[in-house]
Amino acid sequence: MIHSGGSVIGFRVAARKTETSARSVSSAGALSASHRSHFFCGKPFEYLHFNCEIGYHVAVRPVCGPVTEGDTPMITGKPLAAIGFAAAMGAAAAWAADTHWSYAGADGPAQWAALSESFAACGGGVQQSPVDIVEPDTVEAELEEIELAWNAEAAWTVLNNGHTIQVQAPDAGYAVIDGERFDLLQFHFHSPSEHAIDGERWPMEVHFVHAAEDGRLAVIGVMMSGGGANGLFERVMDAAPAAKGEAALGAADARALMPGDDDFFRYQGSLTTPPCSEIVLWSVMEGSVAVSDAAIAKFRDIHAMNARPLQPLNRRYVLQD
Ligand SMILES: [Zn+2]
Repeated sequence: MIHSGGSVIGFRVAARKTETSARSVSSAGALSASHRSHFFCGKPFEYLHFNCEIGYHVAVRPVCGPVTEGDTPMITGKPLAAIGFAAAMGAAAAWAADTHWSYAGADGPAQWAALSESFAACGGGVQQSPVDIVEPDTVEAELEEIELAWNAEAAWTVLNNGHTIQVQAPDAGYAVIDGERFDLLQFHFHSPSEHAIDGERWPMEVHFVHAAEDGRLAVIGVMMSGGGANGLFERVMDAAPAAKGEAALGAADARALMPGDDDFFRYQGSLTTPPCSEIVLWSVMEGSVAVSDAAIAKFRDIHAMNARPLQPLNRRYVLQD
């Protein structure tokens, strides 16, 4: 939250898929219950930001007026349609170029919220990710199994976007999470892991980023250890460009990076990169995958450290199936 002229500026967040051929994905920004009583006031235009983490253009729209319990907390509007796709892409590119962020120093995580008005949630959010998943905070629950219908035949490419190595395809399949269909957009990696389990961070973590038709996101996180072998991760790191850029990977079954055990933790959180939008249904798998030390070293040669610090759980529960 940013205090301005005695009122509180809130941000409604919208997202749109980047592929021009893809169907339009509209917005989603959930206002948490604790936000709903605040007075929201802002500027009459949209900020646009390309979010590498999710492969989406994210529009941040300050809105004006009292937001009450009666208001619909989910934003289902048309975030970029009014602006036009080309203009939106241009604005997004300019915005992304303007707002450099990193994992250390003057534009590191502690400064993210100050780098741009559209990054306010990085500092003032109350449902931020990643979190430490600690036994006393977890609540046993009956959770629906995650169903994966990912497309192993998709034409995957490997992108070095300057923040991570990301594997993406236009027709990557989908997952059914909490009874709802979410399309797989891409998966990418962090070193060390972003989430911690019982206070411990793992050598790496992979995030499978999915979006519902209305733009809400569901991300599956899997802890990665060294000392093993994983053909897919080795292929990804062999193909990964050392500098910003993209390379072909070809057909690949992303399930190779899922653990055999399908138990998971579930909580409501955010993107772990700016603008830190609180629109993510997280599923962190309890099991892990083992990959080769050489492939981890290759990743770290490119991105030595790309994990956001742990965020407070605040009033949230972590559900455990
Ligand atoms: Zn991530």
